[in-house]
Amino acid sequence: MGIILPRFEKLHGKTEAEICRRIIHAIFEQRIPPGERLTEERLAETFNVSRTIVRQAMARLSQDGILVKMPNVGSTVASPTRKETRDILAVRRMVEPEIVRTLAVSVSEAGLAELHEHLEAETAARKNDARGTFVRLAGEFHLRLAELTGNHVLVQLMTRLQTLTCLAILLHAKGEQACPPGEHGQITDAIARQDGETAAREMLHHLKHVEMDLRLDGEERTSSFSETMAWLRGV
Ligand SMILES: [Zn+2]
Repeated sequence: MGIILPRFEKLHGKTEAEICRRIIHAIFEQRIPPGERLTEERLAETFNVSRTIVRQAMARLSQDGILVKMPNVGSTVASPTRKETRDILAVRRMVEPEIVRTLAVSVSEAGLAELHEHLEAETAARKNDARGTFVRLAGEFHLRLAELTGNHVLVQLMTRLQTLTCLAILLHAKGEQACPPGEHGQITDAIARQDGETAAREMLHHLKHVEMDLRLDGEERTSSFSETMAWLRGV
């Protein structure tokens, strides 16, 4: 399947950070599937920038585990295995309840207004059946929370975890494929009431629901050549 990138305007003079942001945006909208091969030539042409800038962007995404370098293939978009997905979600369960607990005592009025605006956009996209936009906004809600803490390290970590979760959902989801409706609102309400304990509990429930919608038990889908041969011998 060919890569379907959104309509990018020309990016003359833009940095590798902007290229990374746009690739992540496309992953959030489920426009770039896991395992997709990305080449310097293709990206340089798509973004109309030099290959040097593309190379820097790809190096940054590789560092974050969003791109994976494969021998004889080049760079491909990460395809988190079931085990990797369980690990990603385990880290999210450690980190995100703390994020909302912190926000319950520290978020400004402007920050809360931003969250409510985000929720309205999510609801509108869901209502209008704008699937790509809705899935992206649902993922970005978790990044907004990290951004509102003002902690840059946390934003970097959450960007990485959320991007890998988006890719894992495409590989392992059973159904809904996005955050369950209403739960972001409940988390935001608890933050607004300055009730950190409820906000943390709601976030933990929410992450459990996300995980329950994934098939993460049992064998990995991919099998090695030797495993296939062993299976054939037993047929
Ligand atoms: Zn969510």
